[in-house]
Amino acid sequence: MNKQDDLRLSFEFFPPKTEEGRTKLLKVREELSELQPEFFSVTYGAGGSTRDNTKGIIVEFKNQGVSVAPHLSFGGDDEDTMKTLLQEYLDAGVDRIVALRGDMPSGMGGAFQMVYANQLVAFIRKHFDNQFHLEVAAYPEIHPEATSYDDDVRYLKGKFDAGADSALTQYFYSPDAYFYFMDQCQRAGIDKPIYPGIMPILNYRNLIRFSDNCGADIPRWLRKRLESFGDDIASVKAFGIDLVSELCETLLDNGAPGLHFYTMNQTDPTATIVRNLGLD
Ligand code: FAD
Repeated sequence: MNKQDDLRLSFEFFPPKTEEGRTKLLKVREELSELQPEFFSVTYGAGGSTRDNTKGIIVEFKNQGVSVAPHLSFGGDDEDTMKTLLQEYLDAGVDRIVALRGDMPSGMGGAFQMVYANQLVAFIRKHFDNQFHLEVAAYPEIHPEATSYDDDVRYLKGKFDAGADSALTQYFYSPDAYFYFMDQCQRAGIDKPIYPGIMPILNYRNLIRFSDNCGADIPRWLRKRLESFGDDIASVKAFGIDLVSELCETLLDNGAPGLHFYTMNQTDPTATIVRNLGLD
């Protein structure tokens, strides 16, 4: 079996807000399909704010014969609403969910319930048995609200104990963070696959802002390097492709079971990185 055969690729999108964005995403999806991912996932706005958009694009992809996974969290919804939505996904032929607690949307206050991801996994297993493959989130650099490293690993174990099948990680640029985390997960008794999340580098300022919010570390040397390119977008992109291709190679050479790309709804740089790795 060659390298491609046993590695899993998946690509993440966010739901487009406009008709133009939708048309563009359909084309990106087609281009990325050439790389034969196991599935495409579509994010869920904080508190369920993109419920209809996420469902719309997921069902559209599914109707085109593509394997998909909507991201899902309770947000402000009650159990009946969640059951209905999950049943609608099943009826559309969707058999994979990325189950999350999600973040509190700004201005939503009391309507948001902190339903932890392990509770959502248990809820789906209780009402839908094993009809969905369940992915959950994992944080090699530890979730920003975690009470400790070990607690975060313990809660990840709780998600698997509740019935999750595999995990997708937050992105990171330090492979050691992932390898150490994998060791800790193994020690905690987790034996399910944990796929590294890969964020291609497109725009320095957006990356810094986004990373500060979600607790992903941009090492000082990398900040300085990216800073030095200033507004030279082409150099940022070329450097980013080399750096992220090397990161992926290191991860795969050392046992990562596949890669989950945060595509930012763009064919490139994801496609170039995958081709650099010889996975096309
Ligand atoms: P949980 O696993 O529930 O953990 C949340 C925090 O609580 C952690 O600090 C954990 O240590 C702690 N914890 C966990 N379980 C318990 C428990 N039972 N009791 C007490 N504490 C506990 N957000 C979106 O809004 N939409 C998306 O589409 C989306 N997609 C994502 C995809 C990936 C691959 C990743 C890595 C993240 C994504 N996020 C998304 C972000 C995610 O929703 C946030 O990071 C959120 O803050 C935590 O979600 P979670 O499912 O990891 O939460």
